[in-house]
Amino acid sequence: MSQMGIMGDYLSVAGVVDRDIVILGAGIAGLLLASEFSRRYSVVVLEKEPRIPNRKYWVTSKKSVDQNPELAHLVDSELPYMDITAYDLTFCRAHGPFPMWDSDRLLAHLVDSVKSSRGEIVTGARFYSYYTDGERLVIHAGPQRYRATLVVDCMGFSSPIVAAKNIYRIAGYYFLTGARVSLKEPIEPIAFYNLSLDRHPRYLEVFPTRSGDAHATIIMPASNLQTNRGLQSEFNFAMHQSHLSRYFEPRAKPRQVYGGIVPVGSLSRRSLNNLFIFGEAGQVNPAATATGFTRMLCIYKSTAHALAECLETGRLSARELERAAPKSMTAFNRRIQLSTFRAMQNWTSDGFRELVRELATVPKDLLRDMLFGELSPKRLLSVAGIISAAKSRDHILLRHALRAAIPI
Ligand SMILES: Cc1cc2nc3c(=O)[nH]c(=O)nc-3n(C[C@H](O)[C@H](O)[C@H](O)COP(=O)(O)OP(=O)(O)OC[C@H]3O[C@@H](n4cnc5c(N)ncnc54)[C@H](O)[C@@H]3O)c2cc1C
Repeated sequence: MSQMGIMGDYLSVAGVVDRDIVILGAGIAGLLLASEFSRRYSVVVLEKEPRIPNRKYWVTSKKSVDQNPELAHLVDSELPYMDITAYDLTFCRAHGPFPMWDSDRLLAHLVDSVKSSRGEIVTGARFYSYYTDGERLVIHAGPQRYRATLVVDCMGFSSPIVAAKNIYRIAGYYFLTGARVSLKEPIEPIAFYNLSLDRHPRYLEVFPTRSGDAHATIIMPASNLQTNRGLQSEFNFAMHQSHLSRYFEPRAKPRQVYGGIVPVGSLSRRSLNNLFIFGEAGQVNPAATATGFTRMLCIYKSTAHALAECLETGRLSARELERAAPKSMTAFNRRIQLSTFRAMQNWTSDGFRELVRELATVPKDLLRDMLFGELSPKRLLSVAGIISAAKSRDHILLRHALRAAIPI
């Protein structure tokens, strides 16, 4: 005899909270979208942590601030340039300005704007499942149920939806460990420095802030989740024993600790019925830890606008949501970043040095656009690009540009 339809007591959950929109995850992606949606709709943001996490910092392109002038006062400072350096001190300089956000103030501002309109943020509410109820979705988060017509998954790396639906083609991960550290003397901005010679290089990033300290992190690309090799000890080494240690205050307790895993890959789709995936979970930008937030800033308003229109007109099927939402970057840029990331996993320190040599020959604006995923195939494959890339023995840039321009 079938047991379907006979509900055990343990399956009943008291009360359902109705909202227009549920956003899963109160990271930067969730808060940006919530700040837009809550002007017109009832919105709840569900966050699993007991407090809104703040374990990241953001450097972006100038364009991302120009497109959001109302947020410009939340920029900590503008880095005039940042260096990409190989173990033998071969280096190239990316010229900005690169705005660096004051993460504390930016998060506080977004939380305020959500709460002061029609939004609510519930912490300690871990999303763990959902089901369809007619035209709406019912979300289980902590002990509570929420029902909404539109749900946006902004759960980043650990999104159970992306994992369970098997829609992720994973190319690898960036592991990051670091801290906000006190400085003994001013240091120039470092985007990527392969300090220690290695078979699988790790990279140091240091961005000095306006308050006289710095965001410092060790970054490591890896193909699987088991390869989180010695990141913390490499960070401690860089801070306390390397030639850079003279810049860092050894005894000061860090003001903030940073860490995380940034997934790199692509989604076969960004939508399910009544559900859209945004931010890191939606691979708004693959393959570049330092540019994910730039892409989000450039498209969150148009994404919110497109999703609101779907909500208004009742066009909420997976296909309609997919078609309506803007693409975060061109297919060419996506392919070139993924192709470079895949290659990066196999570079030794020498491989990285070759790349730095090539980058040093690239025109200033082209290098900046490469970093932020804003290249056109024509420009990269232009005569200037080819000539400059040809100065290197390995033609790394040219190879990846061709691979991205002629997809197989
Ligand atoms: C140390 C560090 C430095 C970085 N620096 C830069 C930079 O300079 N520039 C840049 O552009 N990018 C940077 N990045 C990349 C950065 O991760 C992204 O730009 C961006 O922060 C991703 O935001 P998100 O909101 O999509 O995801 P996340 O920040 O991962 O937010 C996801 C949220 O969802 C919550 N969540 C997860 N699972 C559940 C669940 N089951 N239920 C409820 N809530 C859940 C999480 O707790 C989290 O709050 C950095 C990353 C790290 C780790």
